[in-house]
Amino acid sequence: MKKTNKYIQLAVNGGIGFGAKLTPKQLMTLGEYLDGDTEIELTTLQQLIVQIPKEELEEAKRKFDEVGLHYYKVGKFVKNLRTCNFCKGEEEEGMPVAKELNKRIAGQEVPFTLRPAYTGCPIGCGEPLINDIGVIKDKDTYELYIGGISKGREAQPAKLVKANLDPGELYLLVDQILEIYRENGKKREKFYRFVDRFGFQNMKEELKIV
Ligand code: SF4
Repeated sequence: MKKTNKYIQLAVNGGIGFGAKLTPKQLMTLGEYLDGDTEIELTTLQQLIVQIPKEELEEAKRKFDEVGLHYYKVGKFVKNLRTCNFCKGEEEEGMPVAKELNKRIAGQEVPFTLRPAYTGCPIGCGEPLINDIGVIKDKDTYELYIGGISKGREAQPAKLVKANLDPGELYLLVDQILEIYRENGKKREKFYRFVDRFGFQNMKEELKIV
């Protein structure tokens, strides 16, 4: 098939697991859809940004599924969940919860690109407090933080929304937060700025957290 010059950007990674890893098979599959001189961007969010020819997109997605590559839309969407390396084990550090949260929120449309992070214990290797939405597993429950930013003069840690959450409560609260942002955020308003403008306390009131 003759290639058009239209390309679709995708953010690709190997999904949530013990560290951000790719297998040779996954890399070879990626290579099938990239020209030799294509630049691949390696982001801090454990993703590769690749450009796939538009007419090959559906086939590429099918092949990516076959080799376990995960792919996400690029732009004003919730990014994939950045995670720690789960060094203490899958169950103990809540990997199934991280996977489920990622499945629920990654790719949701929002006013500006939103970066969520998850970490399996309070040591915080996944850097949850310097991302838009941060989750820390502490023993058997979860803490939810919002509004962190790591860059520039506005750098600030995220604030605790609620601790002692079970997985169901965590999913629900994150859903509600994204909905509040979608409904009230201005076009291209970054999430941490939205939280500051809307007011952290007002957010908690909307979420019915006293
Ligand atoms: S946050 Fe905790 S569980 Fe995750 S990699 Fe760091 S020390 Fe290990």
